[in-house]
Amino acid sequence: MSTTTAPDPRRVALWAAAQGWHVIPLAPGTKVPVRGCDRCSPGTKERPNPRYVQHDGHGCECIKAGRACHGVLAATADAERITAWWERTPKAGVGIAAGPSGLVILDVDCHGGTPPEDPELLPGLDLPHGLAPSSIVDGRDVLALLCEARRAPYPEGDHTLTVRTPTGGVHIWFRSPTGMTWRPLAGALGWQLDVRAGSSYAVAPGTVTRAGAYTVQGRCRMVAELPAWLARDLDRTGHRVRAERPRVVLPWRSRLIGTGYIASAVRGELSAVAEAQPGTRNGTLNRAAFRLGTLLAPANLDRGQVADALLEAARHAGLPDREAEAAIRSGMGAGERQPHTLGGAA
Ligand SMILES: [Zn+2]
Ligand SMILES: [Zn+2]
Repeated sequence: MSTTTAPDPRRVALWAAAQGWHVIPLAPGTKVPVRGCDRCSPGTKERPNPRYVQHDGHGCECIKAGRACHGVLAATADAERITAWWERTPKAGVGIAAGPSGLVILDVDCHGGTPPEDPELLPGLDLPHGLAPSSIVDGRDVLALLCEARRAPYPEGDHTLTVRTPTGGVHIWFRSPTGMTWRPLAGALGWQLDVRAGSSYAVAPGTVTRAGAYTVQGRCRMVAELPAWLARDLDRTGHRVRAERPRVVLPWRSRLIGTGYIASAVRGELSAVAEAQPGTRNGTLNRAAFRLGTLLAPANLDRGQVADALLEAARHAGLPDREAEAAIRSGMGAGERQPHTLGGAA
């Protein structure tokens, strides 16, 4: 798309809002948000704004009043507000706030450079056998590698909305599955693979900056749902935001699960986990989860309550949540399949 055929930014913004996306105006010719009012704009390190009043942008009165202050925090899908913003700055580009729009956008960079060693190409992943690292040139190759490892089709172009950036990279747009929230983490998924999610934003197709235009690549104009395999990889690499369970000191002591003999058995298992030393923590947690799993049905225990108590005990022992949750799930599951015979010979 040449600059002469570039669509009117206001129409792009209203089109985006009609998709349910939340937009912000970008300073004309750039990919950074427009400057907010004097009170809300700290300025730059070189040119600090003396009239700036330090405050938290969340809940700033300006945003409530409809001003485009605090960048992505002002994002809206309100057509009236959007119209007013672009009447004021007709040449403003369009940014799409990922989180409030329910979007997860893969930012695949193609700026060359020397690829890192295998372990950092796709951190935490065992790469397919026979990979020649010399075949990796940029983020596209890294994403192709991830797709190969997952036996998934390469998601660009004809599967979902894909936007080519002026620097030759691509943004592959996805809808977040309902109920999931995400955060951006630079480089956590792979080399030259970033994720626009949560509080970050992407430039809408049709926007033209001094560096060039953001254009749709391929035929697909629809945004597909984030594939399950990719959601799992984003979760694995820390992009998924999960509600934090509160941490309490020595919580397992205050838990009363079951009665009588069961209660003391439960407490014994939880204490063993909480007091386990590095080296034996995993084994102890596995055994405890299994044993408590065998008691669930016979003693009529609440599965979630037991799992929570085990997790808290595991935290006390210093086990990472992800690891502990997996051990609890599999241990309890195995135990449940071999229920204890209460009061019997077993
Ligand atoms: Zn303001
Ligand atoms: Zn403000």
